[in-house]
Amino acid sequence: MRKLSIVTALTGLIAFGGTASAEHHNEADADQPKLIVAISVDQLSADLFAEYRSVFTAGLKRLSQGAVFPNGYQSHAATETCPGHATIMTGVHPGRAGIIANNWIDLSIGRDDKTVYCAEDERIEGTSFGDITAATQGDYVPSAWHLLVPTLGERVKLVSPESQNVAVSGKDRGALMMGGGKTDAIYWWKGKGFETQAGRALDPVVAAINADIAGTIDKARAPYAVPQHCEARTQKIGHGNGKSVGDYAFQRPEGASRIFRGSPDFDHVTINVANGLVDSMKLGQGKATDILSVSLSATDYIGHAFGTAGLEMCIQMGELDRQIGRLFKNLDEKNIDYVAVLTADHGGHDLPERLIIQGVPDAERIDPMLNAKGIATQVRENLGIETEDQLLYADSPFGDYYVSLNLAPEQKARVKTEAMRLLRAHRQVQTIVDGADLEDMPMPTGAVEEWSLAERARASYHPDRSGDFIVLLKRAVTPIASTARGYVATHGSPWDYDRRVPILFWRQGLQHFEQPMSVKTVDIAPTLASMAGIKIPADEIDGRCLDIDNGPGSNCK
Ligand SMILES: [Zn+2]
Repeated sequence: MRKLSIVTALTGLIAFGGTASAEHHNEADADQPKLIVAISVDQLSADLFAEYRSVFTAGLKRLSQGAVFPNGYQSHAATETCPGHATIMTGVHPGRAGIIANNWIDLSIGRDDKTVYCAEDERIEGTSFGDITAATQGDYVPSAWHLLVPTLGERVKLVSPESQNVAVSGKDRGALMMGGGKTDAIYWWKGKGFETQAGRALDPVVAAINADIAGTIDKARAPYAVPQHCEARTQKIGHGNGKSVGDYAFQRPEGASRIFRGSPDFDHVTINVANGLVDSMKLGQGKATDILSVSLSATDYIGHAFGTAGLEMCIQMGELDRQIGRLFKNLDEKNIDYVAVLTADHGGHDLPERLIIQGVPDAERIDPMLNAKGIATQVRENLGIETEDQLLYADSPFGDYYVSLNLAPEQKARVKTEAMRLLRAHRQVQTIVDGADLEDMPMPTGAVEEWSLAERARASYHPDRSGDFIVLLKRAVTPIASTARGYVATHGSPWDYDRRVPILFWRQGLQHFEQPMSVKTVDIAPTLASMAGIKIPADEIDGRCLDIDNGPGSNCK
């Protein structure tokens, strides 16, 4: 039994499942959950949670009856999957975590592909993330090495090495950013099944699940039944190229693995892996606290492919509720004393074509000329630059922009100034934040909903990885110019539809309360740490412990 650094005082206010307490040897231990279950639902905005809360009957209903913070924030500007997942189990903003975006540019690296993926190890020779001209396109090695701070699971293992740190996700970045580099098991989806880190063997339980998945994908799938409350949301919305969304119930032909990924079935198999590892690794059934991070990706793929307000998301919300319920049921059946927290890596909003007919007439898609290449062409003309060198680099039309390293300092400054001037003048651009201004800015504090746009950008800023300047688009500008590739809606903006996420805690006996004041996803790790008896020095976190004990006691000692 490990030494405890913190004695919590949840006296009597948090009751425990019967059999779990038999393993506890003293009073301090009795307060600690045997298992921490951290769930991230990719793209589950606070708006979606509010919209569907009344129809939940299973896992999300239970979470809605615990300590409910409906107004949680992914505080930062770059509301993408990797930065969002990096906040949940570390307690720090993405800038401090070093995870500034899903992808960024590193002009100093040797390989031809200067785009770095947040969850790859680009130091490994022959790898490439996404340069379409490279022979090894997409051949990257998943890794958590960019994550500069420990996760809660890694911290727990430092105190009690017998604790198990496990992560499962539909995306490698979801699992790696929640679990970190030191895990006892880590799984994510690749192609047609779940895989793990190089050099590790698949748990037989996961190999069996993969075999099942192959059989499922090989067969055609009938449409999901349409719940009555989804009927009013069923409406065909055209978005160009003769294509539409809004009335699809996830039927699919034989062998459609990509469609499988963008359907409720994807969360079903992710929960199968989580449940399988609870069984095979006996999570929550040992003497020390185990950590299980689960990132459910289907909501995000469905949001991107179909938007957030149609039949597709309506069906998904019901299925998500059921899948989380299956996880809880498995833990309940084993009488595991667990604390669960659920949040999201970012929010999201709907496709502009439906926003326009639903009361947001100024919603629109981004101008196809608004991107690094288009702006660089104008800069070249305006400044009379004759070199062939690419002047500006960016992974997407918004966010971090980088000026070429091959320019003399004086010319680099002129290119940066002219590019910022051109971008600022564009009608779809809200503001440009100069990276040099963020370097000296302290990490923002105070009411997160009132942070300036520069402060939001500061929370995503890392001096070694961020751009020379950061482009922030106007509200309701969707940064997808064409829907030809199947993505119709997205997230990533500094606006609250992308920042606001639910934060829900549940534990057996925890007395329900709802706190509408804003809190942050960086508050989750210090809260869970307090319950697990782990002390994180205040200067190592950006969040604070949330007192989820609805009474005079506190878990935050
Ligand atoms: Zn995401």
